[in-house]
Amino acid sequence: MPKSNTKSGHIYIDYAASASPNPSSIHTEGVFAKRTLEDARRIVASLLAAHPDEIIFTSGATESNNLAIQGVINYLTPTLSLTRRGRREKWILPHIITTNIEHPSVLETCRMLEERKLTEVTIVPVERSGIIDPEKIKKAIKKNTVLVSVMYANNEIGTIQPIREIAKVIRHYKKSKSGKDTLPLLHVDAVQAANYLDLNVERLGVDLLSLTGSKVEGAGRIGVLYKKRNVTLAPLFGGGDQERGLRPGTENVLGVAEFANACALARTNFEREAKRLTELRDYFLEKLQKVSRGVLDITINGNLKERLPNNLNITFGKIPSDLIVLELSARGVMASSKSACKSSSSEGSYVLKAINPDFDPEVGGVRFSFGRDTKKTDIDYTISTLQKIVAKHKKWYT
Ligand code: PLP
Repeated sequence: MPKSNTKSGHIYIDYAASASPNPSSIHTEGVFAKRTLEDARRIVASLLAAHPDEIIFTSGATESNNLAIQGVINYLTPTLSLTRRGRREKWILPHIITTNIEHPSVLETCRMLEERKLTEVTIVPVERSGIIDPEKIKKAIKKNTVLVSVMYANNEIGTIQPIREIAKVIRHYKKSKSGKDTLPLLHVDAVQAANYLDLNVERLGVDLLSLTGSKVEGAGRIGVLYKKRNVTLAPLFGGGDQERGLRPGTENVLGVAEFANACALARTNFEREAKRLTELRDYFLEKLQKVSRGVLDITINGNLKERLPNNLNITFGKIPSDLIVLELSARGVMASSKSACKSSSSEGSYVLKAINPDFDPEVGGVRFSFGRDTKKTDIDYTISTLQKIVAKHKKWYT
């Protein structure tokens, strides 16, 4: 045997296929890579109670959300748009329903399709609680509705949306039509829910579901789109036949494997971890309310009960949230005052605005989001630090 340049003892001279083995190559290293990819696909599928062929790996949830939304529209547009009405041909645009607190990868994609006159979009507002009323989704459904896209849990205020009830509303609508209709489809951005909530796609009643590795500890930079078997999408990109032609391009085998393992680990103890974080969050809130009493009015943004166990979003009287975040950061505590995707926007949080018409963008809210390494002592330090910050700035903001 010649001297090898791989861990498995082979000589790798297929760098044109990929610098690390390409799962599409027929040689042994390629077969290993393919097996790793398919094992990861099986793990992810089992976490969602789905079939492996319903899992599409992407570069992240922005791409998964785009593939779900644009994939449906691009596939259906030629069949839906030209309908003969009497002697005149009439263009009927496909219609999407979404909410006003979705991630920009959903909202901006819908807006872009609407601007290009490819889609009609209805944005249903959430209630003051930060939760959507399924009845409002029901009222928004029209003959040409092809897709309802609602996030599972919000990234800023952590509120959990009633996905099963929304699925039920859609099911009833389809039954009332002919019982055979497959439209509208339900797409769920489950990015923030991945660590803590039920992801069984059958129980949830979803057709499309997006996930990302960037929110699961230890996971690689990777995205997932679950696509039910009977749903057809058009790919976003032209290219090879990877991911059954729905996501061309050389696969990120390492990222996919890391994602599958990290998800499996997170899901093994997710109920225990959710309970621990809920207790920690309640402890944080109790302490904060105690030290603020008679000092400053604090507001919890969004419903507290129907909320991710690791999230709190708080407005501290009239003290700007950016100021609090910077003061916390100077003392070693990293929280945030706006979503990372909109950090350059000066308009303040559109999510906080959606739940409160009197929202002051200068003030905003501070998001505290806890994770695997958060301990009670971290909470104690954060509270005492917040106390100092409030004492220092309160007089300027009354
Ligand atoms: N959807 C939600 C709810 C998110 O919070 C994020 C990222 O923060 C995304 C989508 C986009 O994910 P990615 O960064 O993997 O594209």
